[in-house]
Amino acid sequence: MDERFRDVKYVTFDLDYTLYPRIEGLFQGVRNNIYRVVERSLEIPYEKAKELFEANFKGMGSTTRTLEQLGIPDAAERVRDCLEDVNIEEHLHPDARLKGLLRQLKERYQKLVLISDSRKDNAVRKLNALGISDSFDYLFCWDTQQENKSNGIIFSYTEQRLECVPGTLAHVGDSEIDDIEIPSQRGWKTVHVSKKPSEKATAGIATIYDLERILL
Ligand SMILES: [Mg+2]
Repeated sequence: MDERFRDVKYVTFDLDYTLYPRIEGLFQGVRNNIYRVVERSLEIPYEKAKELFEANFKGMGSTTRTLEQLGIPDAAERVRDCLEDVNIEEHLHPDARLKGLLRQLKERYQKLVLISDSRKDNAVRKLNALGISDSFDYLFCWDTQQENKSNGIIFSYTEQRLECVPGTLAHVGDSEIDDIEIPSQRGWKTVHVSKKPSEKATAGIATIYDLERILL
């Protein structure tokens, strides 16, 4: 147990690339759908669309923000379409080790919550594929809350729903901006799941399984 987390009573989790790693086949499937969106929206050849997206993504680090910069309308919704339009079950499989970790966390903390910018149907499909659909007390998703992480509102919504103060919350996620900077600014503790953890996070771990060392 990491002492910096001793006041934590509630643990919230990002889903994509946090509860499962960046699986190349799944990542490329989503990426390919993104290139198709750029191709269709800007009416340019596929290869050009791919080049343009990747060149802009470098400075942005966010798929939605990159599409917005390219002038694509309803960028966040298009990204959600792309996330859904891949064969999740082909790439994600039941993870007994993760399920065991979440069970132990559930015994120790008051609530476990999933906070995802994806649509709830898509999140549930992934949780089912990973075998962890009964591990969370709440699923706060884009289409159920109408709020997202990048504007921070979903984090304040979470504080209200759980009737708690920011210092008792820890968020675990892979995105340096949406999962670390934004909840940190609200006073949450944060755990960055990344090979290169952010200095802005309270703690960094290379894989989700290392959470045991921080929170148990
Ligand atoms: Mg993520």
